[in-house]
Amino acid sequence: MTVVSRSRRSGFSPTSAADVPRGFPSVIGLKPDLPGHIPGVTPATAAKLAQLGIRTQADLVLHLPLRYEDETQLTPIADLRPGVPAQVEAEIVESGVQYRPRRQLVVRVRDDAGGDLVLRFLNFYGSQLKQLAPGRRLRIFGEPRGGFLGDEMVHPRYRLVAEDDPLPQAMTPIYPTTAGLSQLALRKCIDLALSEADLAETLPEPLRGKLHLAPFADSVHLLHHPTPATSLAELSDREHPAWQRIKFDELLAQQLSLRRAHEARRAKTAPPLPAKGTLTKQLLAALPFRLTAAQQRVWREIAADLGEHHPMQRLLQGDVGSGKTVVAALAMLAAVENGHQAALMAPTEILAEQHWRKLSQWLAPLGLDIAWLSGSLKKKDKAAMAEAISSGRAPLAIGTHALIEEAVDFSRLGLAIIDEQHRFGVRQRLTLREKGVNPHQLMMSATPIPRTLAMSYYADLDVSVIDELPPGRKPVLTKLVSEARRDEVIARIRDACAEGRQAYWVCPLIEESEKLQLQTAVDTFERLRAELPALNIGLVHGRLKGEEKARAMGDFASGKVQLLVATTVIEVGVDVPNASLMVIEHAERFGLSQLHQLRGRVGRGADASACILLYAHPLGETARARLKVIFENADGFEIARQDLHLRGPGEFLGSRQSGVPLLRFADLEADADLLEAARETAELLLKEYPDVADRHVERWLGGRRELLKV
Ligand code: ADP
Ligand code: MG
Repeated sequence: MTVVSRSRRSGFSPTSAADVPRGFPSVIGLKPDLPGHIPGVTPATAAKLAQLGIRTQADLVLHLPLRYEDETQLTPIADLRPGVPAQVEAEIVESGVQYRPRRQLVVRVRDDAGGDLVLRFLNFYGSQLKQLAPGRRLRIFGEPRGGFLGDEMVHPRYRLVAEDDPLPQAMTPIYPTTAGLSQLALRKCIDLALSEADLAETLPEPLRGKLHLAPFADSVHLLHHPTPATSLAELSDREHPAWQRIKFDELLAQQLSLRRAHEARRAKTAPPLPAKGTLTKQLLAALPFRLTAAQQRVWREIAADLGEHHPMQRLLQGDVGSGKTVVAALAMLAAVENGHQAALMAPTEILAEQHWRKLSQWLAPLGLDIAWLSGSLKKKDKAAMAEAISSGRAPLAIGTHALIEEAVDFSRLGLAIIDEQHRFGVRQRLTLREKGVNPHQLMMSATPIPRTLAMSYYADLDVSVIDELPPGRKPVLTKLVSEARRDEVIARIRDACAEGRQAYWVCPLIEESEKLQLQTAVDTFERLRAELPALNIGLVHGRLKGEEKARAMGDFASGKVQLLVATTVIEVGVDVPNASLMVIEHAERFGLSQLHQLRGRVGRGADASACILLYAHPLGETARARLKVIFENADGFEIARQDLHLRGPGEFLGSRQSGVPLLRFADLEADADLLEAARETAELLLKEYPDVADRHVERWLGGRRELLKV
């Protein structure tokens, strides 16, 4: 229990910043400082509340306590036990500032039974000295400890009281708050909201009964003001029926808003792009391989969507190397067959360029012009490309973020494809989409989304999964090797390259500093050059100019360079089948999906491949857990599931990933059954009680409506 306080007024003081719960404020992408209009709340307080994500009375009602303190009892000072928080009432006997061992305000109090207690404040305001004058009566809450002069409390919370000020009848709720907003002030706002806001039940009675859920109004009242009979243990681990109800309602609001978004999309019209077969058939016939059954299936799903009159919003998932690019190429051709343009955006220059080469190789024989746009293009070339796109001369465009720059204007964009979609933010994805009039959208990712996440944050996406790798792939052998054995690893690279194979050496990750990262890459490169003088060694990192990067990658792809030293710029999409060995230095610093993506760069050719994870001692607990997961699993879905488990959804998604409010109370994994029930209930409400659904969404998300249109 936190009893440290920095008391400013006579009211019980705010709790510390550490009390702000996970995922707070609960809404991403929204400026948290837009105050709302809340009856009975001053503008200054409203601004503070806005920092907590509170904009409406309903938000106040749903601002639930983190924990409770028991102020319903008074403990005689004589009965205090060290370490057990308690409340006493006593009169100030003397007070003053002491300077030893350091400056502090010391207040001696005595209760009616004659027990003495010392209060110490290391941080205090001058006004407190005046306020804590002898003769004043205090109610004090804190954790006693045995001191040199008898019992004492350091930084207790306290409040001035009159002789027979009644004790609270219920537990005192402690709320997440922000600097400058005291618990007392926040509590007043919340109590006012509790008495004024509409707490009407949103679940139709028979449904509520069937779900065994407690009534809404009772639940919020109880959570804000539990009676002494309530089990605090159940409240604190959120198993209490009142918490169950709140968590259910939160999930229900999320499901309802996602379904609404889905309906809104279905109401829009998009150009239908049915695959006519003229170009798509030609590509299929010219490919040096046959599509796998899984590729054929996802292509059918995508083609069916493209033929419809409303915009497709589909996520194509497939593990690293499963062959998503060719499916994207087919979709792009369907757009062209219907006289529309298609764009493919990739997160890195290396990847975009590789797509451009591959697609040029596949599509140029069909007589199609492909525009290429990247940040490193010369101004003149960029302008020429933008012109080809806006005039419609180039039916296809491939590029990096440069594609969504303002100057780029499509004449008839019918399909927007985003590769490695998790690397982009919501805003960027929207911007590409806005380059056309409701174009179809295909997102691709090798980072699979676990089912619980897909059901919530991505509920408005249709998902296609490539669940099979092209034939002939060999599993990648993963080895964990201590840094102490680096020499053996070097010898292994020498041997592999002598046999005509190629290898990647991934530099240690330095997340904090780009400059240091660059330095590390150069150092690693120099060191390996000294250690392996017979090899041709290349280097790629994020700071190289576009053409230098392209040259380095080109030399590696052609076999001129045998060992490529790289930063994580090679993490996504890079495809050099002859490379069969990868070393990742300081593997313990990388995230799970990063390791999986990196490892996916090998195992693409006919040779047996290996990935060596070099790690340094001592290994922290999470690093150890991550390395164990990557060592034991090859399947991207399983790795993602474990990743979610290790990191939690907020971090897993990345703050820019989703425009959907993060959950504050429910936990996707622990409350999976509630999520399932909420999903079914959402469907039923929308069908049979649409106005109830409206009220429910308004209560939970009323202040944040602008977010729900992603
Ligand atoms: P990813 O899904 O990771 O984006 P790519 O599209 O880059 O994978 O494909 C990986 C490699 O597999 C590429 O060289 C691609 O040409 C090749 N490929 C794709 N589909 C097949 C297939 N059906 N048979 C054989 N090779 C394929
Ligand atoms: Mg790819």
